[in-house]
Amino acid sequence: MLWVCARAPQLFGHRDPPGSEHRLGNPDPMERQLSNLLLKGGRVIDPAGSLDGPSDVLVRNGVIEAVGADLTADGATIVDVKNLIITPGLIDVHLHLMKGLGAFGVDPDIFGIQSGVTTVVDAGSAGHTLLNVFRNYVTNNAKTRVLNYINLSTLGGVTGPGYSILADPRLIDEDKIEKSVEANRDIIVGIKIMATGGALGSQGLKPLERARRLSDALKLPLLIHIGESWTKDTAPVHVGDVLKYLRAGDIVTHMFTVHPGGLLDGNGKLWPQVRGAKESGILMDVGHGLHNLNFDVARKVLDQGLQPDGVSTDGHRGNRAGPVYDLPTTMAKLMALGFSLKQVVEMATVNAAKLLGRVNDLGSIRLGHPAEISVLRLEEREWKAVDSQKGTLQARQALVPVFAIRGDHVYESTSTDRP
Ligand SMILES: [Zn+2]
Repeated sequence: MLWVCARAPQLFGHRDPPGSEHRLGNPDPMERQLSNLLLKGGRVIDPAGSLDGPSDVLVRNGVIEAVGADLTADGATIVDVKNLIITPGLIDVHLHLMKGLGAFGVDPDIFGIQSGVTTVVDAGSAGHTLLNVFRNYVTNNAKTRVLNYINLSTLGGVTGPGYSILADPRLIDEDKIEKSVEANRDIIVGIKIMATGGALGSQGLKPLERARRLSDALKLPLLIHIGESWTKDTAPVHVGDVLKYLRAGDIVTHMFTVHPGGLLDGNGKLWPQVRGAKESGILMDVGHGLHNLNFDVARKVLDQGLQPDGVSTDGHRGNRAGPVYDLPTTMAKLMALGFSLKQVVEMATVNAAKLLGRVNDLGSIRLGHPAEISVLRLEEREWKAVDSQKGTLQARQALVPVFAIRGDHVYESTSTDRP
């Protein structure tokens, strides 16, 4: 059986429906169950396995059975992936995935499996009170794997980003966070903290002290939002003060923010504490979002030798139709900044898995493991990459999701208005 796949919707017999939801994603994307699937003629890039070259991939009953040249399999559905890129399932480590929560929550499958991404991670929509809701209605209902950073604040994302969610000491309840984490270890990968003057308010750095103790006790990393993108009327928190509370394995997101509280001083130089932090094993994530990918800042940071460990969209309902679109587009923006395809694939696969503490089951293509695969098309064409402040970069390569595989299911990527 031959299934020719060229990411042409007409081959699958459907088109995206008209209307505004089309801009967010297709509510009814094409999904197939295939028990015996042979991807033929693609370029496999698996940085964890030091693999980059032409290779076939055989998936039987949802498990990776073989990776190699000229594979054959009786009765398999053969998918022609000539000129396409096959990677371990892509991982987007920072999004807002409680659909219906405020103006931002988005269905995880939109940035996930419909965008060629097999794992997505919510960054703090839920505090401990909403964690069961998150588990039951978000993680358990998604076709994408959905992991979670629990918010240090009981309020989580309930109020939206402009509120002082950590400014009252009663809004941190260590005992309840601990219970929530212990009951949900399989999906919780860390603790999210808004380290902004607006969020911390009169509590200053005390919530970070408490987060540190909690992180050590629970052996979970902290995910720190830097950049005063929402609250302009409070004094920004200095990133150097925040970094004092972090340890190896903790993550700073929004590394290319132009807003106060970012990695650069007034002269465009990295604060000295930032270099020290990187050397001590603190990780840096892109966190594009509506506000926090600025190409000028990115160039300055990169020119001074600081590299991202993770690439993420900070995707939500308000940025899917631009400037973010999806993870492959964010990866292509990093390519426009000078990274190679292999480097951005490494960030979105094995490095992301390390950042999440999940290298044993995510981020690589492994024989005998359940299939988690992304298939992308690298397009050699000129396009204008736009950052969060409408700054532009002329890009020469675009990265477009074609389909993703989880187990024995294949999910065609939906088209968006991506550039
Ligand atoms: Zn975010």
